[in-house]
Amino acid sequence: MNFIQTRGFDKSRAKSVTFSEAILNPIASFGGLYVPEKLPHLGEEFLNKHLNSSYKELALDMLEQFEIDIETYVLKDALALYDKFDNPKNPVPVVKVKENLFVSELYHGPTRAFKDMALQPFGIVLSSIAQKRGENYLILAATSGDTGPAALETFKNRSNVAVACLYPDGGTSDVQRLQMVTENAKNLKVIGINGVFDDAQSALKRLLASDEFKKALQEKNILLSAANSVNFGRIIFQIIYHIHSYLELVRQKVIAMGEKVYLNVPSGNFGNALGAYYAWKMGLFVEKIIISSNENNVLTRLIKTGKYDLRDSHVVNTTSPAMDILKSSNVERVLYDMFGYERTRELMESLESKNFYELSTDELLKLRECFDADYCSDDEGKKYINEMFYKYNYLLDPHTATCLKSYTTCSKPEVKTIVYSTAEWTKFSPVIANALTGEVDAEDIKALVAISKEAKLEIPAMIKELFSKEIVQKTIIEKEDIEKEILKFI
Ligand SMILES: *Cc1c(COP(=O)(O)O)cnc(C)c1O
Repeated sequence: MNFIQTRGFDKSRAKSVTFSEAILNPIASFGGLYVPEKLPHLGEEFLNKHLNSSYKELALDMLEQFEIDIETYVLKDALALYDKFDNPKNPVPVVKVKENLFVSELYHGPTRAFKDMALQPFGIVLSSIAQKRGENYLILAATSGDTGPAALETFKNRSNVAVACLYPDGGTSDVQRLQMVTENAKNLKVIGINGVFDDAQSALKRLLASDEFKKALQEKNILLSAANSVNFGRIIFQIIYHIHSYLELVRQKVIAMGEKVYLNVPSGNFGNALGAYYAWKMGLFVEKIIISSNENNVLTRLIKTGKYDLRDSHVVNTTSPAMDILKSSNVERVLYDMFGYERTRELMESLESKNFYELSTDELLKLRECFDADYCSDDEGKKYINEMFYKYNYLLDPHTATCLKSYTTCSKPEVKTIVYSTAEWTKFSPVIANALTGEVDAEDIKALVAISKEAKLEIPAMIKELFSKEIVQKTIIEKEDIEKEILKFI
């Protein structure tokens, strides 16, 4: 299958491209994104066929339905990375929290956040494409905390790829920072910036668009790419776990095949939610997708009012930093799917020039048939963390906690809900310790110990080890020096 473009075709590139090409150059005509020409239809037959399949069997069959230009043995190698998860037989456990409320845990991978779900296999796929083409790639990543560790982990020591990862020094948790600065491999460079996440992100965008930078890389026979969340190579792996989670509920005899459920997704850049939308379009039985946000509530406003309005908005720092996002890039793919490329281009151009777009009444109705949304303040989130733990013995991270608000306000209680949990408690321990015991401003290590005692949970080995590992990535620079630093690394 080939990939086409959300804003139409500007004749400066191919009208449609292969999966490999869409991965290597994720930005399409007029600044749009690549989308599959047509989503494969799976339907009930496919779901029934996989009732007794392992996660990897289901995943391979689903990927093959896309007929992408990646050979089966590469896909198998990529999926084999789920063997590194806590339970290789079931990398994504779905657990009951209370009547009709289930949590699909996407954080059992090596870096303890859901970015592993897509980035782990993506690393193998990208490296194999580069090898096949005989090309070398520099992958740029800017991270507020979860993408960086997951990208470093997956590309570590892989052939034909190197990674330069930018993070805001002081802007991540201790655990997140240690996960990056203790990564030791020749093909990895971690760069702390004196600044905030936006500075790292802007630097990355500037470099991706800089012909001068690309030329300097080309002289060393290196091409430039990015592993950001608009890359379809990540999205494709984010469809699978929605199907898997549904099948888990059928297996657990919680639902009958065909019964509709809510999928409740803590959202930032909308990759996870887009995966849910695609799974639904491909035949999964879904009542509605509920989009949960923190106080950066553009998505709630879009879904409630049809207005994507950034005119008076600025990013608020919250206790769920991976969702501190205003331009939620993957929404564009839903616009395309619902309203076509001409309208998508019009809306996105309006967003870029006026910081605003507004859907028509009919368009909003159509959007609301699929989605509902609400947002949750930090204080409310803490209340949910506390309540869920002391009442139901279930430990939520602050991102996942935002779903409890929308669960209360957006869903019919008799319909079952799958909430997606995107991070383990170990990654945001100071907030959780505060929610549970009132402890304030604890360092990560103290908070980890406090929660571990209170909740009678072991701190996983890979988190504990971080605090005694050697720090090998020591570069911390001004944002003006990023380009120079990366060229030095190359
Ligand atoms: C990335 C991330 C999210 C947001 O996911 P999107 O796909 O960008 O919407 C939510 N929670 C955590 C912990 C994350 O790392």
